[in-house]
Amino acid sequence: MQPFRHTWVEINLDAIYDNVSSFTRWMKPDKEVMVSVKADGYGHGAIPVAKEAIKAGASWLGVALLEEAIELRQAGIDIPILMLGYLAPEYMPVAQEHRISTTVTNLAHFRQVCAQLEANKHPLHFHLKLDTGMGRLGMTSTEELSQFLHVYREQKKQLGQTLIWEGVYTHLATADEADETYLEQQLSSMRRNLKLIHQHGIQIPYVHLSNSAGTIRQLNDPPNNLIRLGISMYGLAPSGYMHSKLPFPLKPALSLHSRLSFVKKARPGQGISYGKTYVTKGEEWIGTIPIGYADGWSRNLSNRAQVLIQGQRMDLVGRICMDQTMVKLHGRCDIGEKVTLIGKQGDEEITADELAQLLGTIPYEIVCMISSRVPRKYVRDDFESES
Ligand SMILES: *Cc1c(COP(=O)(O)O)cnc(C)c1O
Repeated sequence: MQPFRHTWVEINLDAIYDNVSSFTRWMKPDKEVMVSVKADGYGHGAIPVAKEAIKAGASWLGVALLEEAIELRQAGIDIPILMLGYLAPEYMPVAQEHRISTTVTNLAHFRQVCAQLEANKHPLHFHLKLDTGMGRLGMTSTEELSQFLHVYREQKKQLGQTLIWEGVYTHLATADEADETYLEQQLSSMRRNLKLIHQHGIQIPYVHLSNSAGTIRQLNDPPNNLIRLGISMYGLAPSGYMHSKLPFPLKPALSLHSRLSFVKKARPGQGISYGKTYVTKGEEWIGTIPIGYADGWSRNLSNRAQVLIQGQRMDLVGRICMDQTMVKLHGRCDIGEKVTLIGKQGDEEITADELAQLLGTIPYEIVCMISSRVPRKYVRDDFESES
């Protein structure tokens, strides 16, 4: 449906393109790029982001759910897709049908997966997940891996080309932090595991371990030939510490905008919004913005965050409601005046990092939080943003 409310997200696809191609040009050429488009591309829209990243050189897509993978296939995207999350064994034939690579999370899971495979479908490509310290999914011991290697041999004899071992990977818990102690432990554990696999004479096409932070750190030992690029493709640094380590500037792709829906000159002592948490000190110009916590504009930003109007920072006042938010204006403004909640106006900028700090969270959550009620508009560098 055509939007009737003036609240929208702008996604600059050129920023996505530039971020991905900056990484591909800067990285060692032995590595392929998987871009993480889970959670509807971190709120940016999985399909347009995936298409743009592919143009910029990405050769893999990573998702959390099978639903997300199928949506990409239905949009006509044909490149390899890896499901990074757990898939219950009974759905393996669905993954086969749509040619989605899946993650095997341990030996028990592997046995169940093999029992469900259907020989008359596409082969199942799987990536074995090793838990080297993330403590989330994956095999936790070398003994289990050793057993797995034996079971794999037996299963492969029976299943033949129905089962393809395509990758082995791990996930890093602290790659975005200054202290490298734990990271080093995870990498050593990965080296030991890979050595064991090679001792069994098994060659696997892909070894991968780097998220955005690992990519920025240029992790090359153990050798790995695929990176899983998420947050930094969208133009955000994985952490405050990582800001200082960026090899080139990133371009944030997402901005969030609205337009004033109501403006009034409030009397001194007038309460604003639920709970009367803000009371005007003198005569004040108060504006209403048609965005609220149902749009992912967190209520915890009440009386804390700022927005940009006419290129200037202005304070939110009173509690954020489900669909509306109030702002203290610097003076009279017209209805329809543009409000930027994330992004730039003139020389001022409000970043996802700034909002994350106010909320005690990470920028990942800020962009994922913007709900599907807010329409996404796709733009390019030469787009003249409406004022
Ligand atoms: C989401 C995810 C990534 C991407 O991480 P970023 O920090 O966004 O780069 C990589 N690997 C796995 C397993 C993930 O779940």
